[in-house]
Amino acid sequence: MSYFDNNATTLIHRQALDVFTQAQLEDWANPSSPYRQANRTKAKLTNARSKWAELLGVDASHLIFTSGATEANNAVLATAAQNHPANSRVLLSGIEHPSVSVPARHWFQHRVDILPADAHGIICLVSLREKLQQEPKPALVCVMAANNETGVIQPWPEVARICEEYKVPFHCDATQWVGKLPLSGLHRASSFTASAHKFGGPKGVGWLVDKGNICFQIGGTQEGGRRAGTENFPAIEAMGKAWEVSQTLLLQVEEKERASWRNQMEESICSRIAGARVIGQEVQRLWNTSLLLMPKFNNLQWVAKMDALGFEVSTGSACSTGSTSPSITAQAFSLNPVESKRLVRVSSYLSHTQADWTALGDAFIQSYQQLLEESQDSNVITI
Ligand code: PMP
Repeated sequence: MSYFDNNATTLIHRQALDVFTQAQLEDWANPSSPYRQANRTKAKLTNARSKWAELLGVDASHLIFTSGATEANNAVLATAAQNHPANSRVLLSGIEHPSVSVPARHWFQHRVDILPADAHGIICLVSLREKLQQEPKPALVCVMAANNETGVIQPWPEVARICEEYKVPFHCDATQWVGKLPLSGLHRASSFTASAHKFGGPKGVGWLVDKGNICFQIGGTQEGGRRAGTENFPAIEAMGKAWEVSQTLLLQVEEKERASWRNQMEESICSRIAGARVIGQEVQRLWNTSLLLMPKFNNLQWVAKMDALGFEVSTGSACSTGSTSPSITAQAFSLNPVESKRLVRVSSYLSHTQADWTALGDAFIQSYQQLLEESQDSNVITI
């Protein structure tokens, strides 16, 4: 259990893979075809939709299966721009995932209004109210449920209430929330999104809940004509199984206890590696995530050393890998360019134990010793 990059993606649950394989072999007919084999698949698809709708507390007609959160977030932003006057603005938290912030800038350009966050990366609700009082009202408010880099949880239930009060649609990217914390309350957002591969499902499948009239892919009647294209039934079925398995695992250990294992690892690192710091430590975070600001060496050096010791950790969001500019989160936390290149993210999964976290902390300490020795040997320039 040395893989600690589960915010990037998770290993598919064996049971979900079995369901996927079985559906590929047995339920491969096109659900729109006019014979019994296809009708069977269609009935199973309807059943899958009803189950998700019930879990999420929404009308089944509001649930659209997609290829994942990126597609869904893009669709929400593009639709908001199309359905509103050309001069309308959109309100975003400054820490949104690029699948929200980039389409927001693409469609709304300079009319993207960023909601300020406090020193812990939590959006300011007073400012949200002030901005919602301004006329004309924004086309949309986007605040993610939990941040993919820091794990910091946003006050999205309050955002939902405030947006309801001002009658402005609220979109919540719940990709890192779903599978880790209860779904209750999400239905209060006007739209929200998730990806199955974050909770042990296959890649390339997820959903969008939209209570409006979003229609973003035409040319077929699938998904109520709102997202045309032959349904990926095997992946949808496997997503349902992954959900069941993840919830069984989740119940085995309390969230608080899982978080305490993470916290102990953080304490161990910070007490043994001078200058190491945890981002967002003072506030509520997902139990599985830790964003570490490490001393002396850049994050690629840390990641490579941890990899050599058998542990997969990341430099931050996988979606920003390769980008030369500091991550959105690094900017939100006012980290300087050197600091932003020293961020190392670790993210566990439901199957990790306390011993796995302890082993991870020990590997960081060993990595540090080795990096120090190597830098003395070879005079490697560190940042
Ligand atoms: N939103 C958040 C918060 C995410 O963490 C991710 C995945 N890194 C996405 C959206 C996009 O998900 P996908 O790549 O599955 O479309």
